[in-house]
Amino acid sequence: MQKIWGEKPYRSLDWQLKNQFGEKVYKLALNGGMSCPNRDGKVGRGGCIFCSEGGSGDFAADGHLSVTEQIAFQKESLRKKKPARKYIAYFQAYTNTYAPVEYLRKIFTEAIADPEVVILSVATRPDCLPEEVLDLLAELNEQKPVWIELGLQTMHEETAQMIHRGYDLACFEQAVKELRRRDIDVIVHTILGLPMEGTKEVLETVTYLNQMDIQGIKLQLLHILKGTELGRIYLEQEKETEVIRPMTMEEYIDLVIACVEHLSPEITIHRLTGDGPKDLLIAPLWSSRKRTVLNEIHSELKKRNVWQGKMLGRSAL
Ligand code: SF4
Repeated sequence: MQKIWGEKPYRSLDWQLKNQFGEKVYKLALNGGMSCPNRDGKVGRGGCIFCSEGGSGDFAADGHLSVTEQIAFQKESLRKKKPARKYIAYFQAYTNTYAPVEYLRKIFTEAIADPEVVILSVATRPDCLPEEVLDLLAELNEQKPVWIELGLQTMHEETAQMIHRGYDLACFEQAVKELRRRDIDVIVHTILGLPMEGTKEVLETVTYLNQMDIQGIKLQLLHILKGTELGRIYLEQEKETEVIRPMTMEEYIDLVIACVEHLSPEITIHRLTGDGPKDLLIAPLWSSRKRTVLNEIHSELKKRNVWQGKMLGRSAL
């Protein structure tokens, strides 16, 4: 079998970037100082039930610094550990297109002005992409590749309502259509282990995404964090009527492997798991050992002879 994705049996982000830029590209997690309409009352209050105070950007740089200062700071800390030379400017915290277009132009232009930044990646909500913002992103995409990361989490409307996502599937589909019309890459965030969802529901989301024109996916374990609505429900629920049950590591590995098998080989996998901020993590506590979890997933993929797209009868291997 000819290997085309390097050592991994799936189309990894690492492989894609090395292919595209000839070397490893590192992420700089930035904070554009924005809020989220699902927190400030425009769409909802309190946010998605799993979202921490930091707006899912707990590892991002200090939002009080300018973008240039954040980039310099993050580069310096990275270079202490890695021989980094190329970077993705990743606006991670909260909703990074939830601001006037002039402000967005200022911060995004500042980020891509750095010659070592090779990609601009922006995490946002599909209901925060008005025409003028889409056009700005298209303009920047002419200078350096722009990725838009959308937090879909699930295709199921019932779950989306339960987690207070605050927009429907039609809104997501419209955003993907508009972004792709402008040739902007779309990366979709999904969460495994959401309340009311098992393997069947998760694979339905994967199958749904296979037929969308998206370029990347992040698979993320549901973390139960302090200071979130999810954390509150989890700590207060009674055993007999529990709605939130943290996944075991074995269950998570099985589910991730099923996702890889069912995912189109054309979609790049940006993440197979993530580690929640340790000081906020209530459960599952095993997830804080991210390296161990990733090693286990990779070893099981090998043992079970799994590759991306296997269950579709498709393979780029
Ligand atoms: S949309 Fe993002 S930032 Fe806003 S509440 Fe949900 S997870 Fe948090």
